[in-house]
Parts: sequence; structure tokens; C-alpha cells
Amino acid sequence: MKIFNNHYLSLFLCVFLILPVLSEKFLVAESPDPEPVHSGPVSFPTGTDQPSTTECPTIAITNYTDGDEQNYPVALLRGTVSDVHGKYLIVENLSSDRSSRIMRTTVYKGQFKILVELVPGVNYLILSLGKARLEFVLHYKKSQNPYIVRAILLESRPDPGRQNVSQYPADSPPTSEESIADTIARLQTALLLMQTMTAERFHDAGYGRRTFSLEFDSEGQIIVHHLQLPDTAIDYQNMPPVQLYQFVERQIQNQMPALKAKNLAIANFIRIPQKDREKMGQVALGGGNLALMDAKGLFCWPRTLNEVEDVFRDSEPVDAELFGRDSAYRNTRWGVAATTMGAALHELGHAFGLNHTPDPNDIMNRGFDHFNRVFLIVESPSAQNRQEVYFTREQESTFSPESIKTLLRSHWFQ
Ligand SMILES: [Zn+2]
Repeated sequence: MKIFNNHYLSLFLCVFLILPVLSEKFLVAESPDPEPVHSGPVSFPTGTDQPSTTECPTIAITNYTDGDEQNYPVALLRGTVSDVHGKYLIVENLSSDRSSRIMRTTVYKGQFKILVELVPGVNYLILSLGKARLEFVLHYKKSQNPYIVRAILLESRPDPGRQNVSQYPADSPPTSEESIADTIARLQTALLLMQTMTAERFHDAGYGRRTFSLEFDSEGQIIVHHLQLPDTAIDYQNMPPVQLYQFVERQIQNQMPALKAKNLAIANFIRIPQKDREKMGQVALGGGNLALMDAKGLFCWPRTLNEVEDVFRDSEPVDAELFGRDSAYRNTRWGVAATTMGAALHELGHAFGLNHTPDPNDIMNRGFDHFNRVFLIVESPSAQNRQEVYFTREQESTFSPESIKTLLRSHWFQ
């Protein structure tokens, strides 16, 4: 308990000194109440309660309050650092033994955004950059909402006559057990990002961190269901998208019915970058209980939360002929990742009952192309912008007030 009190005192002094520079809300115990915010065991290491005697670099989180609770696992912390020359900010979750325990992000002009994976219960976090340190507590209490989003990977019947039918693009892993594991990991990571992004936008709109619930196993991993379809990839690639959608909808209804599930299904057999677009197939449709996406852009999605920044900053060119549309003509790997992950959330939005809106930054408009910006301070170059782009909060993907109003009435957002 004492650790907290002394620590807050030192932070409070730091904050006071630089208050004229940083105007956003600081997350320290500014209340005169001497009681600690949290009871229960404190697992911050000893020695962290010494007030700094020299300069006092600070880290401040601007979108969370110390001790906040949420009902989904990944927090997106936004904040500022007083050391504007600091390059990398680290956050360590002392309560976690997962590979995401330590996360790192790049700081730009004293600003940062960083993802943190929480474990159920209390999470003791330490943010650090050079000499600056911030101890922070977040609570994760699992959602009890029975209305969930289910992840489904659709597979076609193997066709030995067509050798290359399920090959990945040349620069992604070859077809193997490992690549299936990669696909699952990419889908899991993307869903976590969609869930977190949605919560942040509800928070920004003043409704608290509301978002849809996902299905987790006992290890905290998102469950990815597999659904084997009866025909071969080529059969489905030649099917008009609406027909494929209806077919998949019936298959899910028959083989794995769940009244309280909205399904994000990935057509894992539509991923071949052949030059002949007719044969490649394409689907991105949503409504009813199903959001259906092809898997063409999946090779650009992050496999882990640790990869998110690198993926969204990856300006490596992609074949414009094949991936122009899937990258909103940014023709980079980050462009493919942003557009296709954003599109998956857009289709899920339709499944939640949302319509298109006139707001260009809405996820239900072309705002889905800027899904990357939710997690970045600066956007990497692309075929559209040869320079890095500093964007405003309004230029990130968002949910319009109209969309939020509709979602507030949905069982999936209670
Ligand atoms: Zn749409």
C-alpha cells in the first residue's frame, strides 16, 4: 500500500512541473485522499517508489484512468511522454506470462499508442521510456454476454487435380500445417483489434468501452471453428458472391447453428493471386448473422499483437494488379492489412444491422481503409502518399453517431 502512496506522490510532482506543456488528463492519484486506489496484493517490484531526484521525465496515459475495468482482453493505451526525443515505449504486464507480456511501440513527437493484452483479474502494468516510468493498473473482467461473435474458417473439399489451388502468394508461407496455424493466428489477432477498436470508439462517443464479445477457450485464445464445405475451391470461386454467401449461411445454419452468434467466416479457399481475376474469386458481404470475407489479404494480417505495429507500417509494395483494390490503391502490405481487416469489421457491422452512412471516416463507409490509423500515430508511405502522413483523430476509422445509436440497441452490445 505504501508503494502506491509514495509512487503517486512522486508522479504527482512530475506532472505538476510539466502541466503547462501537456494539457490532457493525467492518470495519477490527484485526489487528496491518502487511501490507495486498490486493495489486495501489490506485485510491483520493490524499489519503484523512490522519488526521482534529478529530471523528471514522465509518461501519461490520456484515454484510461488508473484502475479502470474492461470486459475484453486488449487495451489500446494512448498517451504522451515528456521526453520528445524518446524513441521506444515499452509496456510490461507483470500479471501476464504470455508472449505479449512485453510490448513495444514507437513514439512520435511525444505521442504514443500501445496495445496491452490483459489477463483476467488485476493487471499491473509498467510503462517505461528511458528514465520515465509509469505504473498503472487495469482490470479485465470477462464479458458474460451470451451474444457473441464466432470466428469460422471455411475450407473447401481438397481437389487433387488442381495442384496450386490453395497456395499462398509467393511471399507468404507455403501451404502446410504451419500456414493453417498462421491463418488462425491472423484471424484471432484481427478479431482482437476489431473488438478493441470498437470499444475505443464507444468510449470516445461517451458510452464507455462497449464492444462485442468473442468466444475464448480456457487459455484465453479465440476459438476458431472449422467448417468443411462439400465442393472444391474452384466451384466456389466461380460462384457469384451473393450465391456463395447464401450457400455458406445455410451450411452454418445446418452444421453449427447458434442463435446468439454473429459469424465472421473467412473463405480460406479464395486466396490465390492468379493473374486472371475472374478465377480468383472475391467476396466481402455482411448481413443477417454472417459476415463473409475472402482470404486474399490475410497474408498481410498480423499473427500476434506484437506484430501489429510492424504490419501497419510495412510499406513493402504488393502487386497492384492483384491487390490494388484490396489496398485502396495504396499498393503496400500495410494498405492490404488496413483495407481487408477494416472491411471484415464493416461486414460484421452489416451483420449487427448497420447500414452504410455518408460519413467518410465511418467504418460503414470507406473509413474502413483507415483501420490502421486507430493503432498508429503516423501512417507509412504508400502509392497514394510518398511521405509519412500525420493524421488527426477524425481521420481514423470510426463508428458514426448513427451507427453507434443502432449498436446500442443490439443484444451484442449489452
Ligand atoms: Zn457495406
